[in-house]
Amino acid sequence: MKDNYIHKGKRRQLVEMMRKKGIQNEQVLDAMNAVPRHLFLDSSFLEHAYQNKAFPIGADQTISHPYTVAFQSELLQVKPNDRILEIGTGSGYQCAVLLEMGAQVYTIERQNELYKKTNLLFRKLQYRPKRYVFGDGYKGLPDDAPFDSIIVTCGAPEIPKTLMSQLKIGGRMVIPVGDDPQIMTLLVRESATDFSKKTFGEFRFVPFLGGKE
Ligand code: SAH
Repeated sequence: MKDNYIHKGKRRQLVEMMRKKGIQNEQVLDAMNAVPRHLFLDSSFLEHAYQNKAFPIGADQTISHPYTVAFQSELLQVKPNDRILEIGTGSGYQCAVLLEMGAQVYTIERQNELYKKTNLLFRKLQYRPKRYVFGDGYKGLPDDAPFDSIIVTCGAPEIPKTLMSQLKIGGRMVIPVGDDPQIMTLLVRESATDFSKKTFGEFRFVPFLGGKE
């Protein structure tokens, strides 16, 4: 597993592409510059790791486009030590970006094959989520709630109430909602009972499925 000057150069270009597409948060851009995305993909996609593309990661799932990762990470407004719940660990790339930003990440994956593969990668690359759970993201993590923010990286038919209840007051949830394509949605918990909602553009995600396999 290598991260050489060619990868580093390509990563800088990717970061410039993100800037041109409108990403302004320097912590997000720095984190994307730091995470070796090519190591999160199967070796057959190595060549293309730094294009703005999604790729299969096994178990019929895909790693999100870099722009999608940047967009969701920016909407979270991450502060160091924020406790963030991620639904859909997948390749682990989004989690690694949040860890580079100094967050404490709690992340859940429902596909056992992916869960195990990514667990090995986290160890190799020394990325340490606060908790990495094999389970159903619809349940969230009640024992660790409330969270400063929640990021859902699979397309949800609607915003799950269980996850809303696990947000801190003032906390933010970034979630793609609807059928293909999904509408990126930001939910802010304004008080114990009130939530405000803002919607952004269309994105494409694999579905948020119940249960685990
Ligand atoms: N954040 C990931 C994106 C992977 S795609 C990355 O950076 O690579 C979305 C992931 O969500 C898939 O791995 C899929 O298995 C997972 N997923 C779908 N429904 C889920 C659920 N109910 N709980 C946890 N993970 C789920």
